[in-house]
Amino acid sequence: MEKNQLLVTMRPEFLRGESAYTGKILRVNLSTENMWVDEQPDSFYRKWIGGRGLILYYLMKETLPKIDPLSPDNLLIFAPGLLTGTILPGTGRHAVGAKSPLTGALASSEAGGWWGAELKRAGFDAVVIQGKSEKPVYLWIKDGLVEIRDASHLWGKTTGDCQEIIQTELEDKKIRVAQIGPAGENGVLYSAVMHDVNRAAGRSGLGAVMGSKNLKAVAVRGSFNVGLADKQLMQVTTKWITSNYKDMMGWASSYGTPGSVKPNHDVGATGIRNYQDSALVGIDQLDATSFFPLLVTGRDTCNRCPVRCKLIVSYDGEEKIDPRYGGPEYESIGGLGVLCGISDPVIVAKANELCAANGLDTISTGGTIAFAMDCVKNNLISGFDFLPVFGDGQSLLKSIHLIVERSGLGEWMAEGSLRMAQRVGKQSENYLAVARGQEFPFHDPRLKNTIGMGYALSATGADHMHNLNDTFATWDGADVCARLREMGMQTPLELWGISDHKILAYQYETAFKNFLDSAVICHFYPYEYHHMEDALNGAGGWNLDKDEINRIGERIINLARLYLVREGFTELDDALSSMAYHRLDSGPIAGKSLTPLELREALEKYYSAMGWSSTGVPEDTTIERLQLVEF
Ligand code: SF4
Repeated sequence: MEKNQLLVTMRPEFLRGESAYTGKILRVNLSTENMWVDEQPDSFYRKWIGGRGLILYYLMKETLPKIDPLSPDNLLIFAPGLLTGTILPGTGRHAVGAKSPLTGALASSEAGGWWGAELKRAGFDAVVIQGKSEKPVYLWIKDGLVEIRDASHLWGKTTGDCQEIIQTELEDKKIRVAQIGPAGENGVLYSAVMHDVNRAAGRSGLGAVMGSKNLKAVAVRGSFNVGLADKQLMQVTTKWITSNYKDMMGWASSYGTPGSVKPNHDVGATGIRNYQDSALVGIDQLDATSFFPLLVTGRDTCNRCPVRCKLIVSYDGEEKIDPRYGGPEYESIGGLGVLCGISDPVIVAKANELCAANGLDTISTGGTIAFAMDCVKNNLISGFDFLPVFGDGQSLLKSIHLIVERSGLGEWMAEGSLRMAQRVGKQSENYLAVARGQEFPFHDPRLKNTIGMGYALSATGADHMHNLNDTFATWDGADVCARLREMGMQTPLELWGISDHKILAYQYETAFKNFLDSAVICHFYPYEYHHMEDALNGAGGWNLDKDEINRIGERIINLARLYLVREGFTELDDALSSMAYHRLDSGPIAGKSLTPLELREALEKYYSAMGWSSTGVPEDTTIERLQLVEF
């Protein structure tokens, strides 16, 4: 073996197809080119499952407090979950994590596609990367063989071109590539790690962490079979979802997440023109029923998913849209369209393409540009050749280019809206829509009050995925209501406010979502606790029940909280910025929002319910109950 290579022998149980985990966690030190493997016991997988659980375990164990996120000391962790790559539909996902350069808190973001399952098939449950290479490199992982390869020729390439070059030079078009684009190379603080070109682990600046390590890509190819301890048990859940997905997930197969843009806009859920307006002129053009015939040429999917909710988009007019980069999802249309006052679907799809090609998080990109547009509208910025304007599509596209290049106003925008407000001054923080320094997704906390509390509490900064979506929970047929009933709660929930009832529902649902992000499973699948019991026990050969699944989620939330405490965050950082309280004069949410006092009261009730102190720190009894004493 060369110094830059490692060959790992697989466990017999994994080779015989009797294990859903490989038992091998790949470690790479890019400073020294040392590579080795951690072999964790079965109890590790049962306790942490994988994904976010594994990411937090390694961040807490192996990083010192308050490190610079862009230093070689940070870890970059790619972590599929126990169920990734198994026969269960909806498991074609994995998590990526690090300390976030955007927030200084946790970065933990999930991506679909095929990469995570391919890594498991190549023999690894996770890749934990530390250090910094002297020159650009990429990792090549195939069936237990790992190699650090030169990536000088890939640096500066867009994601589509980089993937094609790697697949060509390794002579295999089925190689799956995780990578950064030019935005990550240039340290944009909300740059993404892209997979299969168009699937982003988008949030919190993971691309900048990867770029800081001079790591351009991780290419994987595997031929091992991800097995199961008890295939019959797993098939209970597999058969159920196979029989029911057409009825229960028809929304995803038909218009996917873009189908909810117009309905959400109409009830005041999206945030319009940086949360300043109650309606977007031309919103009908962004309705899926009108833009699908114009742009959508096909559908795409993730590993072992029959739903096929992903879009293939192409356009050959004045703007040309490259079909390699997929189509805009709900969040991308919300951020790059509605929030910036843009209703032209071609412009939104082009902006989405630019974000995927350059490796940018569409939520923070849209949020930051909309903030800049609001600053321009209020005459708070001057002295730049170019200033972006609400409703101007070319402004949006030019802003994205400037952000990627860190040029002109793009140098300010590349740092995210909170840091930009600090540079602009002039009370521009009054136009911010952030929590813990990360831009809001497009679920307006003035309508969805519990989601707002979740933004304030999230260890990653504002996030809608590990959260309780108020409007979903008001409908008795929603999967969230079915899960809450399993936990003994009456459903559905009321829409407005944050009652004790909603706080309890938030506790259960965020525990379940954190479990899903560890397993790692697509949130669109309507799985309930009993489905997950059968799937996990089938995969691991265990006897977990719903209470243990809930406890796994609680453990991960509490470890994330301990991470925040360690990094210097206090209860005062559990907060929402000004736009969460900005009341509109008209429209469906006219005059509506929580007050800061109401949010604080809800947070104090939540701390108490979680077994945390009045300052939001997990109590010793909570730490013991959740087996977190070692941290
Ligand atoms: S439903 Fe959509 S996002 Fe989820 S696994 Fe299937 S294709 Fe991927």
